[in-house]
Amino acid sequence: MLNLQLGIRYSVGKHASILGELKPGDFDPKQKFWTRFPAEGSKLTPPHQSIEFRWKDYCPVVFRHLRELFQVDPADYMLAICGNDALRELSSPGKSGSFFYLTQDDRFIIKTVKKSEVKVLLRMLPSYYQHVNRYENSLVTKFYGVHCVKPIGGQKTRFIVMGNMFCSEYRIHRRFDLKGSSHGRSTNKPEDEIDETTTLKDLDLNFAFRLQRNQFHELMKQIDRDCEFLEAERIMDYSLLVGLHFRDDNRCDKMGLSPFLLRTGKEDSYQNEKFMRGCRFLEAELQDMDRILAGQKPLIRLGANMPARAVRMARRSDFDQYTRSGAGHFSYSGEVYEVVLYFGIIDILQDYDISKKLEHAYKSLQADPTSISAVDPKHYSKRFRDFIGRIFIEDR
Ligand code: ATP
Repeated sequence: MLNLQLGIRYSVGKHASILGELKPGDFDPKQKFWTRFPAEGSKLTPPHQSIEFRWKDYCPVVFRHLRELFQVDPADYMLAICGNDALRELSSPGKSGSFFYLTQDDRFIIKTVKKSEVKVLLRMLPSYYQHVNRYENSLVTKFYGVHCVKPIGGQKTRFIVMGNMFCSEYRIHRRFDLKGSSHGRSTNKPEDEIDETTTLKDLDLNFAFRLQRNQFHELMKQIDRDCEFLEAERIMDYSLLVGLHFRDDNRCDKMGLSPFLLRTGKEDSYQNEKFMRGCRFLEAELQDMDRILAGQKPLIRLGANMPARAVRMARRSDFDQYTRSGAGHFSYSGEVYEVVLYFGIIDILQDYDISKKLEHAYKSLQADPTSISAVDPKHYSKRFRDFIGRIFIEDR
């Protein structure tokens, strides 16, 4: 972590003042730069307390532009990652064995990735840049940097810095990672072990989300555009990560989500978190106010801070058990909760390579081929879109 912080401080500092025009050559995957960090320091790097390591920056000029596009101030970025507050390791990494770190201000997530994932990201970088530049409401993960650390005599660790989908002024009470497939898509946890930190999956989903008309249409349009982009890049296995904040604490109580239960960890870290949320809330309000004063409508920030109604449904797994249909239609229990939604498309660095083809062939022997996650990118995208079209509903 120390190496990473030193490396980022160096890279951001180096590119902070330069923001010339982006050239096609900046996207070249060969744009990678090694820097030596000897313990005693060098002309370019400060002395430090860990053993000597090497630091690699991938396409730094492009990521400098992406940070600008996503309105990340270089000083804020550096402070969030390299400030005195340590990064927090997230407790529930996914199946891939990656490690996740969250910055204290909740804005950025650092994920360790495989070489193949770095390759995919660099390959898609020109079209990714074009896509996020064109659609400011795109739901695909925001990438801020790709780097590699190699201690002398040690292994390479590659990682990406990305936006936290749940950077919110509200507490996230429930989180779902949804792929639109059913095979193995359940947490398999008993009800009393599920809390706000559990990432639930497709078969655990027991809500559908009613959105205001224009937001619903904007969402469907953007999901189509984002999926077209991912399909063209032959990407699959991505998820829609959805976070829910229940507005009404009484409802939370009824669901076993009392605000007291939600307070985990030390009281001062709770206070600190509350303070950070307050700041973000004010910032968002001020941005809206600026737009209103400039005669514009407040932005619909698609996937961030979206008011919705969550309609309680039977869980898909329960429903499938009763009907054996497996078709993914939901039954309706009528309970409605006022919620604030956060969502976005994550895990977009798996391409449909040979290993996925093998995984598909192997799993097909054991399960219905359409229910498993590794289908080809076209089918993946269709199934994903269809699923999203079923869990979001237009509020009339
Ligand atoms: P798997 O192989 O199981 O799909 P993975 O190791 O590739 O997982 P991801 O799918 O990228 O990892 O993420 C795992 C979990 O980490 C997600 O379900 C989510 O809870 C959290 N997570 C990942 N990316 C983000 C993000 N940008 N914002 C917030 N949370 C995230």
